[in-house]
Amino acid sequence: MAIVDLERLTKRFPDGTLAVDNASLRIEDREFLVLVGPSGCGKSTTLRMIAGLETSTDGMIRIGERVVNDIAPKDRDIAMVFQNYALYPHMSVYKNLSFGLLLRYGGGVLARGVRRLFQPHRAKELAQLRGGIDHQVRQTAKRLGIEDLLDRKPHQLSGGERQRVALGRAIVRNPAAFLFDEPLSNLDAKLRQKMRVELKRLHRELKATMIYVTHDQVEAMTLGDRVAVMKQGKILQVGRPLEIYQQPANLFVARFIGSVPINLQTGVARRDANKVVFDGGPIHIEFEPDDDRIVKQVFDEATTKDVVIGFRCEDLTESESESQAIATGKVATVERLGDSAVVYFEKLNPVKPVNENGANNEIVELGNGGWSETNQSEPLVARFAAATEVAPGDRLGLSVQPSRVMWFDLHSGENLLKELT
Ligand code: ATP
Repeated sequence: MAIVDLERLTKRFPDGTLAVDNASLRIEDREFLVLVGPSGCGKSTTLRMIAGLETSTDGMIRIGERVVNDIAPKDRDIAMVFQNYALYPHMSVYKNLSFGLLLRYGGGVLARGVRRLFQPHRAKELAQLRGGIDHQVRQTAKRLGIEDLLDRKPHQLSGGERQRVALGRAIVRNPAAFLFDEPLSNLDAKLRQKMRVELKRLHRELKATMIYVTHDQVEAMTLGDRVAVMKQGKILQVGRPLEIYQQPANLFVARFIGSVPINLQTGVARRDANKVVFDGGPIHIEFEPDDDRIVKQVFDEATTKDVVIGFRCEDLTESESESQAIATGKVATVERLGDSAVVYFEKLNPVKPVNENGANNEIVELGNGGWSETNQSEPLVARFAAATEVAPGDRLGLSVQPSRVMWFDLHSGENLLKELT
């Protein structure tokens, strides 16, 4: 298996579209790396350049020890699985699995004849390899639970079964690395979930380097050893799923990751000798002075700073006392998910004005993760225990652990505390 190394990889299409912009990424041997980002951010183009299906405009791709920029796709020792399966419709499952190997091992009658004449040693070796194809195919089919389907044609299979055959075709080749381009997106939610578990098992068993592209952040978080978040051709952050969830590099990553949207609020942070206070929209939080990370990283030398704070829904709890409350929320809707309840609060008027004009702030995304201010705030959302009795119309005092609060620069959108995490 192999390390896959991308150095300053860039792709500009002939029409001028900059699909991948100076992307550097090292995928470790046996790692499961997920490239995730919104539609059009350059994930598939990156993968296609690794596969050799697209040439790069600039930068370097290394697979194992070899720089492969100028090496043909078939000689890169990788296998790619696509969203549309790309099975041969007229061939049985067995043939679909064996065909690539047969070609690779010089299976054509003419090629065999020529080789016997001019490369007798090679001919013998290839004949041996061809003799092993049946075993390889049956072993792979067994691994994927499709051994009873070997005689069927693709149109006689369900979507999930077709996806397994497509996976089998990649596995049977025993490549240095696997590339997956949204391979599960044609399957229904339940089957997707099942295939995700199977893919993780396969990854463990095959001990293979895998690079997986998806726009679905849940898929990214559940599958990846590490996740690389892309936007507009750039890699914004690479990290373990929990790291990206809890310490997003910027507002874009903070919003993109998480099945329930992160709570974000623009406002002004002030510090004096004794404490740091944040005021924004309906939210007022006081931070203890002993957290000098905030003082050093957020304020630097200043005493006030325009920021966006963020906290995850599970960190917003019902407060035990009024003095602890950072805001009061009026429940708008409760989504009961069985294992938890997601509680959406109504938009609230500010408890205190947050700037000199007395205006409140709303969060509006600007270009690359920066934010601008307008005159409202986004509603809060919390995840409570499944058995919670809160109902629409209830008013609750809400609190958040100060240590769970993330701090972002209002203008650049960068996480101000990320260097220290
Ligand atoms: P999706 O999730 O929708 O598949 P993606 O992140 O995989 O999106 P890419 O397919 O890599 O995105 O495309 C990146 C950008 O390059 C997009 O803006 C797309 O329109 C553009 N693009 C892709 N192929 C070409 C092409 N052949 N010529 C010009 N632009 C292209």
